[in-house]
Amino acid sequence: MIKNIIKSSLILSSTLFFACSDAPEKVEKIVDIDPLIQHIDSSFKASDDFFMFANNTWFKQHPIKASETSNGIFKTIDDSVNAAIKQICIKSSQANAVKGSNEQKIGDLYKSSMDTILLEELGITPIQNELNTIDNINSLEELPQLIAHLNTIGVSPLFHFWIGPDDKNSSLNRGALWQGGLGLGERDYYLNTDERTVKIKNEYVAHIQNMFELLKFEEAEAKLTANSILNIETDIAKISKSMEALRDPYGNYNLIATSNLKTNFSTDFWQNLLQAWNLNSMDSLIVGQPSFFKALTPILNKYSIAEWKNYCKWFLISDYASYLSKDFADEDFHFFSTVLSGVSEKKPRWETAVNETNEALGELIGQVYVKEYLPANTKEKLKEIGENIRTVYAEHIKNLDWMSEETKAKALVKLAKINMKVGYPDKWKDMSAIEIKSDEYLMNILHLNEWEFHRMLAKNGQPVNKDEWGMYPQTYNAYYSPSFNEIVVPACNIIVPGYEGKMPDDAILYGIIGGSTFGHEITHGFDDEGSLYDENGNLNDWWTAEDREKFEAKTQLIVEQYSAYTVLDSMHIKGDATQGENIADLGGVTMGIEAFKKTDQYKNNIIIGGVTPMQRFFLGYGFAWMVNRRDEALAHRVMTNVHSPAKFRVNGVVSNLTEFYEAFNVKKGDNMYRNEDIRVKIW
Ligand SMILES: [Zn+2]
Repeated sequence: MIKNIIKSSLILSSTLFFACSDAPEKVEKIVDIDPLIQHIDSSFKASDDFFMFANNTWFKQHPIKASETSNGIFKTIDDSVNAAIKQICIKSSQANAVKGSNEQKIGDLYKSSMDTILLEELGITPIQNELNTIDNINSLEELPQLIAHLNTIGVSPLFHFWIGPDDKNSSLNRGALWQGGLGLGERDYYLNTDERTVKIKNEYVAHIQNMFELLKFEEAEAKLTANSILNIETDIAKISKSMEALRDPYGNYNLIATSNLKTNFSTDFWQNLLQAWNLNSMDSLIVGQPSFFKALTPILNKYSIAEWKNYCKWFLISDYASYLSKDFADEDFHFFSTVLSGVSEKKPRWETAVNETNEALGELIGQVYVKEYLPANTKEKLKEIGENIRTVYAEHIKNLDWMSEETKAKALVKLAKINMKVGYPDKWKDMSAIEIKSDEYLMNILHLNEWEFHRMLAKNGQPVNKDEWGMYPQTYNAYYSPSFNEIVVPACNIIVPGYEGKMPDDAILYGIIGGSTFGHEITHGFDDEGSLYDENGNLNDWWTAEDREKFEAKTQLIVEQYSAYTVLDSMHIKGDATQGENIADLGGVTMGIEAFKKTDQYKNNIIIGGVTPMQRFFLGYGFAWMVNRRDEALAHRVMTNVHSPAKFRVNGVVSNLTEFYEAFNVKKGDNMYRNEDIRVKIW
């Protein structure tokens, strides 16, 4: 999960730039409804807060719903995709489909999720067997076996384990261990002492206590248990690396022979774990943070087996609460949605059911979705935009004034080899072995987790299958994978709200799809982490030392720029942890601009909605991050997420770009103005 989800500037010659004023006479194009213009709030000056200027009228007209953490472009697109998936689910559930068919699986999973009456009747029953499995162990020696089992059903206490491409040999699958074990996900929640964090931590302990009371623990016992779990997790937090420190692929690559695990970590635990998964043939594995695993052994010995059993129960019940009766689901919602993200109301049941069905069976739903809900030429259009961005990227690399010819040649090879997967997979995953029943919601999910885990175990020592996708076509997102040296842009990235059924103009296409999607993802291949991998996806330094030094001086500027932004009261962006995303945003928009300059709309200076092509490009980019988030959710993201908040993804990037200063007449003294010597230009 951590691995594959891992997720550039320009010096424009003045001749090129001033070409704008030499452009042919402007051509005015009248449009009936122009979302870009309707979103503008001119009570903000573009040169003071471009994000609010570009989006605030929309924000004012579309307040965040009580059941949501945010509102904006993502929510709008999700709503339209969810409406399609809902139709697919309902149609499938009414189809009387042949057992084992895709339709039957989709329909019955949806049905099982909608049957809240049955869920109430069943109460704790669906997870009782798993709770018994935990109760049945009696000694620390049995813990590896138990944790091995919990991993097979998607529950990962203590650490994360996966099998995937070896960072130094990307065509081979290898096992990897990664730090983990924190119910709150991020160590800062346990270690920071500011008011907001302490409040959340106290609510967290109360939540664990409530969950154990639902598991029929007496109040006092539940309280003791919750405190003991917090103690364990705090100990684990203390030995965990920070988000910033984890941005070091070399530091995270420690190949250890399985025969040496015991010597390295002073315990049989890891050997026994591998044995429980029948991975005896595994000769070595990658340990992400050896210091963490070394320090885990004394923690394992510090607590009693009874305490470890409760810790495991906590992870189990927390992961499966939303598939149980309302009391469990409500308690889970109260903490993870209300306390952590400020959401006060649950989504309607159908939406939860649609989301769960889609998350679990997205490969099957995607097959229907791309056929029935998207324009036929989606794949071609995305490919065309992607290739145009690749072309300008190559031109940019050739013209960089800070990089040697030697490194440029290698960067160009890497760029040319980036595999672009767009739209949907050529080959879908074979999910025929999965059985879904209409009256076993929790067990359906548990079996799907088991299927996924065993599928992963079977990859051990096998060549990497480069055809696989890590996202569904109906997912409004995209990613770059350093090991695959590929970008994946799912089909629904073609959707632009307000332009359903018609093609948006190029300013929008290159601001959103060109810049914030393709340009952004390609730049991940050249950000602080991605640039450490070569054209074949191997951790292998292809830079000259001097070029690397110059690159790092530039990335340091971006770290300083974003670290200075205040998100809420005293909360700042983590400039180090978010630098890869910020580099990708800047590189993406830079390339979006260059590709847009090649279009007729730009060259013929076509005015749409009363604004110039370049103003429109930037409004389009502002639209790409039109997201309004609750303060609680914003704070949670700053603590745990490597992306900067939407406002800074826009203002931080455009305030580095000459074209923006020209398009909106930004002058010294305006809030968006940055002195030329600190404007960041990388790719
Ligand atoms: Zn990214």
